[in-house]
Amino acid sequence: MMTRKVLVLEDEENIRSFVVINLKRAGYEVVQAGSGEQALEKFHENPDVAVCILDVMLPGIDGYEVCRTLRGEGYEGGIIMLTARTQESDKVTGLMTGADDYVTKPFSPSELAARVDAICRRISAGNDAPSDILKSGPFTLSLLSRTLTKNGKIIDLTQVEFQLMELFMSNAETALERKQILVRIWGESYNGDDKIVDVNIRRLRMKIEDEPSNPAHLQTV
Ligand code: CA
Repeated sequence: MMTRKVLVLEDEENIRSFVVINLKRAGYEVVQAGSGEQALEKFHENPDVAVCILDVMLPGIDGYEVCRTLRGEGYEGGIIMLTARTQESDKVTGLMTGADDYVTKPFSPSELAARVDAICRRISAGNDAPSDILKSGPFTLSLLSRTLTKNGKIIDLTQVEFQLMELFMSNAETALERKQILVRIWGESYNGDDKIVDVNIRRLRMKIEDEPSNPAHLQTV
């Protein structure tokens, strides 16, 4: 589930509260800051903000600097600059520092909310894009065609083996307990022998490992 949290950085209190009220009305959770320094602080406390709205003109570090810092720290959410001026150079500076969009003052609350909505939709579309291909070493698993290939050659798998492979490939480098595997593949209510896990893994190894008795891919910890 995507967060609906927005950080609003604006030093002018009446503009800030106007923005905050309207975003709250639009269903967003809002974190607010009155200076760039405070915005970075608030951001570190709320790294899950989906969108940051940054005023450019501020008494301390300016909005561009905040934007640059956020991107420098690897922030991948949306950034909208609030600019008082309409010069083309400001828009360019904003976009160069890593902003996604800018809104020129004065703006209507519905306009700003619409921009925030648009960015949130874009972010969530990116996150929800089905990753139907899993790759790991020589293996490629296609969830769409439900096939596994090793170095390009198809390996025939049963449904259970496929599910096991999917589980392992989406948890690469992670040790999974037998019990966890059992619950994930056979379900919570399965009350048979958990040896079924071992048997299926042994069979899967026969199919995917060069040396099943000395597995290079599916290892037991
Ligand atoms: Ca300002």
